[in-house]
Amino acid sequence: MDNKYFLTEEELMIRDMARKFADEVVAPTVTDLDRKHLFPEDQIKQLGEMGFLGAEVPEEYGGAGLNCLSHILIMEELARHSSSLASIIDAHAGLGTQPLLKAGTEEQKQKYLVPAASGETLCAFALTEPQSGSDSGGTKTSAVLDEKTNEWVINGTKAFITNIGYAKTFLVACKTDLEAKGSRGISIIIVEEGTPGFTIGKPEEKMSNHSSYSGELSFQDCRVPKENLVGELNRGFPLMMSCVDEGRLAISAVAIGMAQGVLERATRYSKQRVAFGNPICTYQGISFKLAEMAADIEACRMMLYNVCRMKEAGLPFATEATMVKMLSSEMCVNVCDKGVQILGGYGLCEEYEVERFYRDAKLLTIGEGTSEICRMIVSGSVLKQYE
Ligand SMILES: Cc1cc2nc3c(=O)[nH]c(=O)nc-3n(C[C@H](O)[C@H](O)[C@H](O)COP(=O)(O)OP(=O)(O)OC[C@H]3O[C@@H](n4cnc5c(N)ncnc54)[C@H](O)[C@@H]3O)c2cc1C
Repeated sequence: MDNKYFLTEEELMIRDMARKFADEVVAPTVTDLDRKHLFPEDQIKQLGEMGFLGAEVPEEYGGAGLNCLSHILIMEELARHSSSLASIIDAHAGLGTQPLLKAGTEEQKQKYLVPAASGETLCAFALTEPQSGSDSGGTKTSAVLDEKTNEWVINGTKAFITNIGYAKTFLVACKTDLEAKGSRGISIIIVEEGTPGFTIGKPEEKMSNHSSYSGELSFQDCRVPKENLVGELNRGFPLMMSCVDEGRLAISAVAIGMAQGVLERATRYSKQRVAFGNPICTYQGISFKLAEMAADIEACRMMLYNVCRMKEAGLPFATEATMVKMLSSEMCVNVCDKGVQILGGYGLCEEYEVERFYRDAKLLTIGEGTSEICRMIVSGSVLKQYE
């Protein structure tokens, strides 16, 4: 659906720019990059030049100064062809730059946010650890202040961190009050790539997003300046969680864009494929699937756009962001399943692309809050609301 009535002239223009780039630059290369597990370096560079890597960052910090929905429209359009590309941007802009934007000092903004917003450098958001994913408050990576040198000494391991190999700036969750229980006593500390004691592992060999690299970080007596603390000491966990809320909007846009990509491919195929003497789209077994796919996508899209407007209006949106992440990620998995079914045997073949969407979609119900964790958050809010 075109949603012209919902979007401003500027938002439509941004969406059309992103759509043109996705159709002309991303679509022709995505299958090959995915097959070869190659990072879309050139595309990231071009998107940086277009201002799309810092869409929501104010112009004074090198960003495009766009509103929330514009950023979401960009993510949606890119994901229509490449979940990997959109996920790289989510890890960078949806998550990685957020702590700097929300709580960075002026010096940190100039040093790290400005190059990140223009795409000169990529950011990574390092919260998950091998032993604590959903239970991310269980962070064990420690940062102890050496009073003599005024440096944080970091030790520990992070897991599944996206943008490894390309990110220059890592926003790392560290336990800074070792006595504090649970998610208390965590702070966010900037670690630059190449810092002694900081090792970046190999990308995980995974089912989804072959062109986006995620893997382990290890810290062994890694020393960074005291000034690399972002935001308040020991108050990093709530800050990280507020960044995850932003990321959930971006991940929802990825889900909706991917589902849209599958709907378009499946619809075209169903008009061309003939079975029993007729195009398969003339059979209700197929056309009703297309109807359900289109309706489910539009419901999630409208919900997401509404949450963006809530954020733009300065309203709390954390629960709604979690709701839309939960629904749109599961919707995307279902739409991809229907898409493969519509393409029959060809649905399993790389050339027809729906196979890639099907693989990539599963990540959406796991990253940035699994479906179960989203249900815990939303149910907690419901139970509180209707006491
Ligand atoms: C490709 C990829 C990229 C990623 N990128 C990043 C990144 O850039 N930065 C980052 O910090 N992290 C990243 N992650 C990590 C991601 O956020 C975690 O994988 C996710 O939060 C789940 O954690 P886990 O894998 O440890 O699973 P677990 O937490 O071990 O969960 C396993 C299962 O148990 C369920 N479960 C856990 N607790 C409960 C409960 N209380 N009730 C019911 N069910 C429960 C979960 O829902 C899940 O089904 C990435 C992950 C992947 C796969």
